[in-house]
Amino acid sequence: MTGKLNFFNNRFFNDRFFNAFVELTYDCEYFRTVDGHFIYVTPSCHRITGYIPEDFYNDSDLMEKIIHPDFLELWKDYHQQMPEGEKQEIDFKIITKSGEERWISHICQKVEFVVSGLRGFRASNSDITDRKQLEQDLKHAALHDHLTGLMNRRFMMEQLKNLIYQYQRTQKVFSIVICDIDDFKSVNDNYGHECGDVILVEIANLLKNQLRKQDFICRWGGEEFMIILPQTPLKGAREVAEKLRVSIEAKRITYHGHEIKVTMSFGVHQYDCADMPDPCIRKADMNLYKAKLAGKNRVF
Ligand code: GH3
Ligand code: MG
Ligand code: MG
Repeated sequence: MTGKLNFFNNRFFNDRFFNAFVELTYDCEYFRTVDGHFIYVTPSCHRITGYIPEDFYNDSDLMEKIIHPDFLELWKDYHQQMPEGEKQEIDFKIITKSGEERWISHICQKVEFVVSGLRGFRASNSDITDRKQLEQDLKHAALHDHLTGLMNRRFMMEQLKNLIYQYQRTQKVFSIVICDIDDFKSVNDNYGHECGDVILVEIANLLKNQLRKQDFICRWGGEEFMIILPQTPLKGAREVAEKLRVSIEAKRITYHGHEIKVTMSFGVHQYDCADMPDPCIRKADMNLYKAKLAGKNRVF
């Protein structure tokens, strides 16, 4: 059974009224029979999926075909366990006719009559792509530093706690490095705050690009960065820090025709089982302090 059903054949709700009414529907609403045929799909399906109602009428599997493969299981589970009464919504991605991914919030309800029993399913699909994007942007902003794009302190603390729990289970050694740009105040004083920002971004990129995929780096604060090196004992961690120190020393950053050179001091500490997050950070920080006292541009 395909084609639009005439629901409202009376004096007020005739075909013309119905069409005028549903043409303004913003979400994609449809009615499907028990065996999956689309009986009615609102024209708004075109805005959301790129397909027109006839595409759905001619292909009863079209919905399942456009759902992103990652969400097909979720979709099947949802429709196999259709409870009575109020339904929860599910969110999933679809791939539109032009190949674009869009987020959909879907709700579906059984349509059942006392005499004739189950007649089909009525569903509503809202395009929530903008909302999902905003949620992702907010989540990213909450966990990352806006200037350098690195993780922020809060996100890094979560990683550190995870590594400590992992250490307690597996004894996998890891080290922490805290590093701080030397005499950064004078860069700001001599070339301006904007130049300082450019240098922070350049240094962040340099550090990030020199590390392994499994390492973590964050902007710890101001001109300070923290690095966690999983499965790296103290000796290896000091070697990594030394390599970073040398590359920063060798780097020339050009800002409005000025060639600027910066150096960095590093404090390294290998996590040991007595430490919880704060003391182990403090020990790395103490070593950074020693590096500064010893004349800066060095690893301690
Ligand atoms: P030290 O070698 O002892 O670390 O000296 P320093 O000058 O680097 O340290 P100090 O703590 O005296 O100054 C840090 C400076 O870093 C001062 C502050 O304005 C600057 N700073 C912190 N965050 C930012 C930022 O986001 N952008 C810029 N441009 N500067 C920043
Ligand atoms: Mg500094
Ligand atoms: Mg500092």
